[in-house]
Amino acid sequence: LYDVDLPKLSNDELGELAASIRKLSNDLSRVKRERKEFLASVSHEMGTPLTYLIGYAKVAQRTELNDTERFDYLSIIEEEAERLKTLVKNLMDLAQMDEMTFTVTKSEFSADEFIRDIVQLVQPSFDLKGITLRIEQVRDFPIVADRMRLEQIILNLLDNALHYSETGSTVIIRAFQDKKHVILQVEDSGCGIAAENQQQIFEKLYRVEKSRSRSFGGAGLGLATVKELTEAHGGTIEVQSELEKGSIFTVRL
Ligand code: ADP
Repeated sequence: LYDVDLPKLSNDELGELAASIRKLSNDLSRVKRERKEFLASVSHEMGTPLTYLIGYAKVAQRTELNDTERFDYLSIIEEEAERLKTLVKNLMDLAQMDEMTFTVTKSEFSADEFIRDIVQLVQPSFDLKGITLRIEQVRDFPIVADRMRLEQIILNLLDNALHYSETGSTVIIRAFQDKKHVILQVEDSGCGIAAENQQQIFEKLYRVEKSRSRSFGGAGLGLATVKELTEAHGGTIEVQSELEKGSIFTVRL
């Protein structure tokens, strides 16, 4: 069915039918190909960290290790398990959105408390890599959003900021309001993104440079999920970035 090449018979209804069938079969082949690529990429992105996790867990059990060495291995295991958890959450959300079963459940909560909770969650990973995480927030205000989804948005952005920054640098998280919007920003002074790639990074599976990928993890699903989750809130996401200078991701709700 996928390779049928129906000639355009005529300009009448039969000809139109042939053209529609041809289009349908091309669409089907494309969907099939994309699904295959997607599955291959996701299996790889999950399989690689799992192999490392098992490896590190085996090493961490060695009796000759001292406490510091064991702690380091366990920290890596924890960080990679967290990343896998985020990847699985992203996949579940994207699947729900595809099937239109995704729902946003809004509530009101304090911006201050929200940011502090997130920072507490990610602080160990930042400490491990020697990157300072700073909160810049003038005063507290209420946010009305799906708290779990918003947390996922910011966690994805912080995860990227962490992984595309060098040891010794600072990442800033900001929350403020203007007349109409709640604005959340994650700023890093890492490797930055070239202007020509700044729109594509929000596409599923897009990664700027495969060779600059992390040691493991990174399916190119983070920003696609961030964009869809933000838009499900009726919000927008944008990036300002310069190569070798850093990036600012702005979520406006
Ligand atoms: P990945 O899992 O590869 O990080 P994302 O969808 O989160 O997937 O990001 C897509 C691509 O955008 C990344 O592969 C990377 O090239 C680029 N990118 C995202 N965030 C940053 C950042 N803070 N600094 C530099 N590059 C980034």
